[in-house]
Amino acid sequence: MKKELLYQGKAKHVYLTSDPNQLILSYKDQATAFNGQKKEAIIGKGRFNNLISAKLFDYLTDNQISNHFIKSLNDTEQLVKKTTIIPFEVVVRNIATGSIVSRLGFKEKIVFEPALVELYYKNDDLADPLINDQHALLLTGIRKEEIEFIKNEALKINQLLIPYFEQIGIQLVDFKLEFGRDQLGNIILADEISPDTCRFWDLETDRRLDKDVFRQGTGDLLTVYQEILNRLGAIK
Ligand code: C5P
Repeated sequence: MKKELLYQGKAKHVYLTSDPNQLILSYKDQATAFNGQKKEAIIGKGRFNNLISAKLFDYLTDNQISNHFIKSLNDTEQLVKKTTIIPFEVVVRNIATGSIVSRLGFKEKIVFEPALVELYYKNDDLADPLINDQHALLLTGIRKEEIEFIKNEALKINQLLIPYFEQIGIQLVDFKLEFGRDQLGNIILADEISPDTCRFWDLETDRRLDKDVFRQGTGDLLTVYQEILNRLGAIK
């Protein structure tokens, strides 16, 4: 049973439930970019994030990736295990684009082989800066082996998601993950995986099928999110 609001994020609300080990994620009809500087209500967006993320977490569960997802409750809400989020974002990059091009000068579209894993400190006031492992140890109190575990898990998830998207004509360019600690202290995958948190390029045309259409104002967000959900729906 849904109880009081625990936390309000940019794209979702998190509610307590009658079970102290479970939370409800409620996806909002809102798109934000550039650390909240660009913000727009988009009716119907929350449903896409919820359904797409649910499908991807189910696939990862089937492939032995420990995660917080329990089940979808309705079009915009899902039940998850309660975790304490580890305050860094883990970005995996297969192809150079976005901030790695603008910040570090990598050439657009070069291939990272093996995939590149980066950590970003979750801190809005500092605009989520890129950090190294030692910073992560000092800032979050996490253990060295736990950082190694998280990076390995992120690479495993990449190896599972690349062929999953390839079969529906999509190149997985890069994505962001978050991990949390469950009640027993185990580190598990948390948050969401959706076109808000991944870059998806059509394999044939390079068409952007993710939040970059909103970030850059180059297309209709609902149309491309619908396209991702349709293609995922074709996978049995
Ligand atoms: O902006 P940047 O190139 O660093 O983004 C890398 C990947 O991480 C993209 O797929 C983007 O959607 C995702 N990301 C995210 N949340 C952030 C920053 C990046 O989901 N706060």
